[in-house]
Amino acid sequence: MAIDPVCGKEVDEAKLREQSGTTAYGAKEVDPTAGTRRFHNGKWYYFDSMECRSKFMASPDRYLNPGAVQAPARPARRQEE
Ligand SMILES: [Zn+2]
Repeated sequence: MAIDPVCGKEVDEAKLREQSGTTAYGAKEVDPTAGTRRFHNGKWYYFDSMECRSKFMASPDRYLNPGAVQAPARPARRQEE
């Protein structure tokens, strides 16, 4: 079992692999109704829904390193401005 890093639910990654097919774009993909996955930073992460995947994609560090992301909302201003 894999853990959905966003909501913490268990995801059966073996089942997801079994159901993988090809998307309209020709990419290998799993059935989004059963769950989904995302390759990030050298490994696969599994999600129980597209919603969780979208949240993860928006800010992966927030879920992979909770507490480590204390960066300011906007980048520091450039000196030469
Ligand atoms: Zn989830």
